[in-house]
Amino acid sequence: MMAAMNIETRPAPLKGELLYRAKLAPFTTWRVGGEADIIYRPVDAQDLAGFIAANQDKPLTILGAGSNVLIRDGGIKGAVIITAATLSQIDNKGEIFRAEAGVGCPVFATIVRNKQMAGAEFLSGIPGTIGGAIAMNAGAYGAEIWDLVEKIEVVDRHGQIRELSKVEVEYGYRYCKLPEDNWVVAAHLRLRRAETGELEQLHENVRVLQKKRSESQPLTQRNCGSVFKNPQGDYAARLIEAAGLKGEVIGGAQVSPKHANFIVNTGTATAENIEQLITRVKERVKHVHGIELESEVRILGEKKKEIGKGE
Ligand SMILES: Cc1cc2nc3c(=O)[nH]c(=O)nc-3n(C[C@H](O)[C@H](O)[C@H](O)COP(=O)(O)OP(=O)(O)OC[C@H]3O[C@@H](n4cnc5c(N)ncnc54)[C@H](O)[C@@H]3O)c2cc1C
Repeated sequence: MMAAMNIETRPAPLKGELLYRAKLAPFTTWRVGGEADIIYRPVDAQDLAGFIAANQDKPLTILGAGSNVLIRDGGIKGAVIITAATLSQIDNKGEIFRAEAGVGCPVFATIVRNKQMAGAEFLSGIPGTIGGAIAMNAGAYGAEIWDLVEKIEVVDRHGQIRELSKVEVEYGYRYCKLPEDNWVVAAHLRLRRAETGELEQLHENVRVLQKKRSESQPLTQRNCGSVFKNPQGDYAARLIEAAGLKGEVIGGAQVSPKHANFIVNTGTATAENIEQLITRVKERVKHVHGIELESEVRILGEKKKEIGKGE
């Protein structure tokens, strides 16, 4: 994944991997988007804090597995920290599990299960990190990650790490409002000890639901999960399909013929193609149904400048 990137010497006290003018597309599930001025992959929480403290002059973005972002073709200015597969410690004291931001949700679900604890089954089908899941309040099958949160650890713009209790953070459906310029370092999640035989049943239920999903969602193509939030009392997919948009194409981006709330990269999509398709879907659904769809996917970065149209 990292082969084409330019790895340069890092500042002395930092231990992570520092990449300059590096492509962001490989760090996203849509595989589109431009470059970051700097990508940093910290080795642990202290290293993350050290990098942030040393780069207070730069705009900062933190990504997990890139499974819920559309990064524009002009890339992201400043530093992008990627936690996936780096901030990956998990430990527990009884029913409280501390998982660092870069732990994969499916990995977390497996570890919890192996400890005979219940409550994290729904995370097994979410291809993001714990940090991304906290930031999005990711959920499935009627459960959401914030149902489990006891407290989180956040790092601020000065590299200071502190704890926030659940009541200090505002969250809702696929939404979480962290204090400005604060990012998730770890989450403390409360699970519960499973009754005999219960765990197998819970995981079997999720397995059946996931099988249904894999039959109805375009999981073999590059996608970003659900593009739009479901409006109150309805489904984005139903509204999009009823507006005649299933299969709609712009460049290499397509509203999936399999599931209308997915936009797939058929191989040659640019971020611009996907963003234009998102706009078209919103406009058509508004026109046909009078409903404003809200993106679940977060759109980040700069549009690509056209040659000859400088500032
Ligand atoms: C096939 C597929 C299926 C999916 N199914 C589901 C599902 O069932 N339920 C669901 O809710 N979602 C689903 N998603 C969407 C996605 O996996 C979740 O939203 C996930 O929680 C995003 O995590 P991430 O690590 O990929 O975050 P990213 O995409 O990397 O980031 C998402 C947002 O979170 C912010 N962020 C990331 N890490 C941090 C951090 N440490 N601190 C602060 N902010 C941070 C980013 O800046 C960005 O704004 C699916 C996606 C795909 C591709």
